[in-house]
Amino acid sequence: MSRRFAFAAVSVLALSVTLIPATVATAAPAPMGVVVRASVPNFPGNLKAGSHGAAVTAVQKGLLAHGYKISGLTLASSRTKFGVLGAATMATIMRYKKAHNLGPSFAVGPKTYASITGWKANTGGSSGGGGTSGGSTGGTTARCGSYTGHTCKTTATGGRFCPTIGAYIGDGFGANRGSHSHQGVDLMSVKGRPIFAVEGGVVAGAKMQSNGALAITIKGQSGNVWYYGHQSVNLVSDGDTVKAGQLIGRVGDTGAPGAFHLHFEYRPGSPGDAWYHAVAVDPVPLIKKLCF
Ligand SMILES: [Zn+2]
Repeated sequence: MSRRFAFAAVSVLALSVTLIPATVATAAPAPMGVVVRASVPNFPGNLKAGSHGAAVTAVQKGLLAHGYKISGLTLASSRTKFGVLGAATMATIMRYKKAHNLGPSFAVGPKTYASITGWKANTGGSSGGGGTSGGSTGGTTARCGSYTGHTCKTTATGGRFCPTIGAYIGDGFGANRGSHSHQGVDLMSVKGRPIFAVEGGVVAGAKMQSNGALAITIKGQSGNVWYYGHQSVNLVSDGDTVKAGQLIGRVGDTGAPGAFHLHFEYRPGSPGDAWYHAVAVDPVPLIKKLCF
């Protein structure tokens, strides 16, 4: 491989990191240095689900030092377990923000960062942005109003609908779940937010699983299979015909996942195939297309 080709490959990789942070962060956690309280990293800009690096480690250690529990993480954890802002860390950040009146956005802005880590803006370079508004990166999320940074699009894209409104992208496809890898994406949300059929089809399963989670499987007209999990309520039943965009359930935490979210899977298939033969793929690119 020539040097030039190698450089091009690295550039493509860097681009994919920018586009799909949650997935890449899961696949390759950033190696972290030791964070000492006396040298909190400078605020790097709003931290969100999928952010990684030394500033995330500083937030995680700060939360633990303040006595806030993060599922799966303690101050004694190996340093390689720190540095990725996943669902558990975000759930703790939101508890901290609520207790300290730091706003409802699913992001760590400069005020929250300072409050948690003790960081003080000093040597210039301060972003000067609103401390708690979060998601001020503009671009495709700017039109989402109060749901900036969250799934927000209620109109169809190519006949398909975003599976839920008012959620942000948490743990991604392939995340290590011990005995298996994560087969979908976790759309972190609030109890009761609506869940919609991505496309029209027939409900192949609407039930409570053995772990207590309410789940819905829909075989779409295209043959694609759509799986929704952890609902607080299912609003469809086995064998129902559903339309694209139909309300089918509401966000919950059944099955005790630790945070309110929609577990969403996309399994491409063909109309003639049995629904259970379809294999899940990373749904994040589709979510970005349908929801923002
Ligand atoms: Zn999940």
